[in-house]
Amino acid sequence: MKSRVHSDEVKFAALQKLKERGVSIRDIAEIVYEMQSPYNKGLTLELCDESVEKVLSKREVLHALLVGIALDTVADTGRLSEPLQSIVQSDEGLFGCDETLALGSVLGYGSIAVTTFGYLDKDKVGIIKRLDTKIGKGVHTSLDDLVASIAASASSRIAHRMRDEEEAQAANDQAAAAAEPEGNVG
Ligand code: MG
Repeated sequence: MKSRVHSDEVKFAALQKLKERGVSIRDIAEIVYEMQSPYNKGLTLELCDESVEKVLSKREVLHALLVGIALDTVADTGRLSEPLQSIVQSDEGLFGCDETLALGSVLGYGSIAVTTFGYLDKDKVGIIKRLDTKIGKGVHTSLDDLVASIAASASSRIAHRMRDEEEAQAANDQAAAAAEPEGNVG
């Protein structure tokens, strides 16, 4: 029987690849901040970093990253078989497998993740634009979509967590009000 790859190894490899391809957690967090700060006044970049890190601990997200970055990296060396090499290298608009791979990993984060992903696919923000416009070296056909998917999932996490916190606060306030003695004492 083949031995299983430990999740820690998968995570380490995926984060390493992301870094090698020039993308930091903060780069993705900046997109999350832009997406969510209009709805969350207390949002900080640190909270966005934290959300991105949580998304980057999901196995399916890490697997998608490894697959997409592997495809981009082999395309960089020109060693894919034709016509795939030309399609990936030229970032052919109708290729679609890059978006499909990335979309798969946002599905676990609900509708906000899906709609945010669609928005980022169209209106490229921050580092997604840099990857998509191919400034700098390398093929990033898959990576721009993967970064959009991580940012979209992290945005959705924040939106849901914010509601949970608001509701928890409201419940606390209610409990505190109920515990207050009625009228003036003393
Ligand atoms: Mg792409």
